[in-house]
Amino acid sequence: MEISDIKVLIVDDSSTMRRIIGKILKSMDITEILQAADGVDAISLLSDTSVDLILADWNMPRMNGLRMVKKLREKRKTASVPIIMVTTEAERSSVVEAIKAGANNYLAKPFTPDALTTKIKETLHL
Ligand SMILES: [Mg+2]
Repeated sequence: MEISDIKVLIVDDSSTMRRIIGKILKSMDITEILQAADGVDAISLLSDTSVDLILADWNMPRMNGLRMVKKLREKRKTASVPIIMVTTEAERSSVVEAIKAGANNYLAKPFTPDALTTKIKETLHL
């Protein structure tokens, strides 16, 4: 699989952050990019749509990233979709919890486009 062929879901309550991440993904020639504003939206979107990768924010209203990861892992359809948690420095201690819940990798904010690219390739074994 080429990195440009993947379909990515960005879950973040900040539209600015979604736009920043989206721009980086486009610079990687990824064209299939979906967005959700929180865990509730993401889970509803994923009930009838498949993606190859989820980039998930930690702190979000309604359903945070950790709860979302737990819920996705309970469902057969999303049990093994790769998830990268995007956290702030302050949330770093929560990373272990996220990995235990089933997240595959994590990236601390702020990050460079190169760091995100590397993390995606590493997570998808590309
Ligand atoms: Mg947030």
